[in-house]
Amino acid sequence: MAEPNDATPFLPERLSLKALRETAAGCRGCHLWRPPAQTVFGEGRKRSRLMIVGEQPGDQEDRAGRPFVGPAGRELDRALEAAGIARADAYLTNIVKHFKFEERGRRRIHKTPKRFEVDACRPWLDAELAVVKPEALVLLGSVAAKGVLGPSFKVTQHRGELLDSELAPIVTATVHPSSILRGPPEDRKANREALVADLRVVAEAL
Ligand code: SF4
Repeated sequence: MAEPNDATPFLPERLSLKALRETAAGCRGCHLWRPPAQTVFGEGRKRSRLMIVGEQPGDQEDRAGRPFVGPAGRELDRALEAAGIARADAYLTNIVKHFKFEERGRRRIHKTPKRFEVDACRPWLDAELAVVKPEALVLLGSVAAKGVLGPSFKVTQHRGELLDSELAPIVTATVHPSSILRGPPEDRKANREALVADLRVVAEAL
């Protein structure tokens, strides 16, 4: 049998978050399924008004099996709180559900997913959108934004703007919180404030 080239054959017949989570655990839609990484599916209530989409789980997310629980997740939590958004009110997920990494000694170093990996995983995000039907969709970072809005989209040029999209009434993109941690320490305060300002646009639009 030919290898699948995306996640479509693994989708459940009836879409629910429970069924999606269970079937995604066995997804073999691209080569990233191979252990030791596990599927890290989205998390949040079915009728969340806000969906936040990042790039992919990191080392800590993979170990915990939950999205946004590592350093970038803590950075996001702080920004959400400052913007007046409760994390519990948001559905959090990633555009790629497996941690792509390379091993350096005992460390697992993040590798940016390629377009074909993003495309392979896209059916899961589409299914999450179909179930949750968020009023607002926030795309964090270039991989998620390009994966959803197209390869020519530039987060640096359009961050914090309300964008036209059929995916949700309110759609915007901003930087991934991990970029704040990777950037120069002297820029962190300004970069944190800029992320909060972008999230406030969504909070006010909701
Ligand atoms: S990254 Fe996505 S498409 Fe690839 S195996 Fe994991 S869940 Fe399936």
